[in-house]
Order: sequence, then C-alpha cells, then structure tokens
Amino acid sequence: MLNLVLFGPPGAGKGTQSQKLIDKYDLIHLSTGDILRSEITKGTKLGLEAKQIMDRGDLVSDDIVIGMIESKLDASPDAKGFIFDGFPRTQAQAIALDDLLQKKGTAISAMLALEVDNEELVKRLLVRGKESGRADDQNETIIRNRVNEYNNKTLPLKKYYSEQAKFHSIKGIGSIDSIFKDLVNRIVFVKAEIELTMLESDIEHLDLTINDFDVATEISEELKQDIAELRKAEIVTKPKLKSVVKKPATKKVVVNKKVALKKTVVKKKVVAKKVLVKKLAPKKVVAKTSIKKVVAKRFVAKKALTKKKAPAKKVLMKKVVTKKATAKSSIKKVVAKNKK
Ligand code: AMP
Repeated sequence: MLNLVLFGPPGAGKGTQSQKLIDKYDLIHLSTGDILRSEITKGTKLGLEAKQIMDRGDLVSDDIVIGMIESKLDASPDAKGFIFDGFPRTQAQAIALDDLLQKKGTAISAMLALEVDNEELVKRLLVRGKESGRADDQNETIIRNRVNEYNNKTLPLKKYYSEQAKFHSIKGIGSIDSIFKDLVNRIVFVKAEIELTMLESDIEHLDLTINDFDVATEISEELKQDIAELRKAEIVTKPKLKSVVKKPATKKVVVNKKVALKKTVVKKKVVAKKVLVKKLAPKKVVAKTSIKKVVAKRFVAKKALTKKKAPAKKVLMKKVVTKKATAKSSIKKVVAKNKK
C-alpha cells in the first residue's frame, strides 16, 4: 500500500496536488477539512460544533478528527493506499494514525511536505476566499490564526516523521506541474526504498532456495544502486534514519511471502528498472549541463582573479622592496654603530 501524508500549511496546494496524485496512483483521498465541511453542509451535530471552531481558524479536537479518519479507513478495506490531506495536524493525531494503520497491517510510506512562506500563503488564501466563498479564507486575521495554529501545533510533526526517515520537503512555489513532478520523483524514491526494505526482510526471514536467494540479492543490490543514483542526481537527500525496527514474520506470512516473492521477483526487477531509468535520464542531462555551467563560471572567476592579483602583486612587491631597503639601511647603521 502507498500511504502518503500530504503536509503543509493552509494554502500550500495540498488539495490541488492530492487530486493529481489520486489520479496517478489510484489512491483514496482523506481530507479532514473536506469531511468537516460536508458535515456542516449536512447540518449534523458534529458539523454544527465544528463550524464555530473552523470559523475562528482553530483546530477541531483530536478525538473528533481521529474518529472520522478511523471510520473512513474502515469503509475502504480494499484501497490501494490513502492520501491524508490536512491530517494529522497534531502529534496525538499522528500517533493515532500510526496505530490505526498498524492494526490494518500497513503504515505511512512518506510525509511529503509542501513548503511555502507565510506571506505567500496569506495572499493565496485571500484569493481562494474570493473565488470559493469559504468563510475561513476571507478574513486575514482568521487566515493568520490558521497559519499560527499550523506553525505551533502541526509543524512539530516534521520531527515526528523525520525520526522515522519518512519526511520529504518539497518546494511548494512554482507551477502546479513542476511541483507535481517533484512529488512524483519523491514517490519513485520512496517506493524503491519500500521495495528494498521488503526484499531485505524477505531475504532475512524466508527460507529461500539458493536460486531465489541469489535473484533476490541481485535485485536488492540493483535497487540499492538505483537509490544511490537517485540521491546522486539530487532528486532526494538522504533522510536521517534514527532507527529501523524489523519485525519477525509469522510462519503463515513466511509461506505466503515466499510464493509471492517467487512470482514477483522478475516483474519487480523489470518495472523498478524501467521507472528509475526513465526518471533518471532527464535529471542526468540537467546535472551534466549544470556541471558544465559551473566549470565555465570557474574559468571566468579564475581569469578575473588573475587580473585582480596582478596590480596587487605589483603593490606588494614595491612594499617588500622598500621594506628590504629600510631594513638594510638600519642594519648598516647598527653595524656602523658597533664598529664605533
Ligand atoms: P483545511 O481544509 O484542511 O484547511 O481545514 C479547514 C479547518 O478544518 C481547519 O482550519 C480546522 O479548523 C479544521 N480541521 C481540518 N482538519 C483538521 C485536523 N486534522 N485537526 C483539527 N482540525 C482540523
């Protein structure tokens, strides 16, 4: 399963990018903001309660939003994965989400954070308010309160996901398509890393035949190389990994996994390679051109430096010669004095 947390302050573009990611990866979109707004429209008790809080730009209580997410997860048992948009917004929500997913035998794959500065957010939200009529997007004081709530309560989640090596920062300024491309690049990397972790765990826990073991090891080595290349192409920086907990597999899981592994080993190899090569090719060209540019710049800089150095050298030499002359004459004076 691919479970993504799309992270970022209000107005960062989470909704827009979610829609594109859903289309590409066939995921289910869970936006707590959207669910709350639909409760308001339906006029439910929850909706009435939430409306007052939302109109102020404050956060709705953890219990309410966690309950909402739980029932939405239960309602989609066959999902290929989820995009969490606007959730979790507090540490308590993040912990609850981890627990809920663990119970379903899955986990968050990555947190993709769209980074946009505060003033740009306020500008964007005011425009959105005019277009959509959303009450909490129309008043600058409320907008600033929402951004503050995000900075105080939600931003600490960066640390929470960084410690699990799941945090990825993406610049949220630029065209919708270029931001989407960045997101997809991260997801390619995340998927390769997940595949590698699964493969390594299979190699460790499954009782493989020598042949399967060789193939699985070969693929894992190739995946490692691909991941290293992605990092080298600066698609992703190495996340800080604090700890990786490996869980031992049960007997039944081991047998099932062994069968599944045999079937997918070759498929994985072909698919992973194809995707990565496709992703890497344009990056490599860009990297090469920028290296060329750097070399050219260095050449110009060197020339300028030599030019600058020439007159400086002249002045220096003059000073040295004068100093030497002064020193010589004072030595002469000392010698003459001694003679006397
Ligand atoms: P959004 O559409 O994500 O910007 O959410 C709009 C408003 O809904 C927020 O300002 C909060 O008042 C409320 N809200 C949405 N998601 C959450 C959440 N995960 N926790 C608490 N409040 C939320």
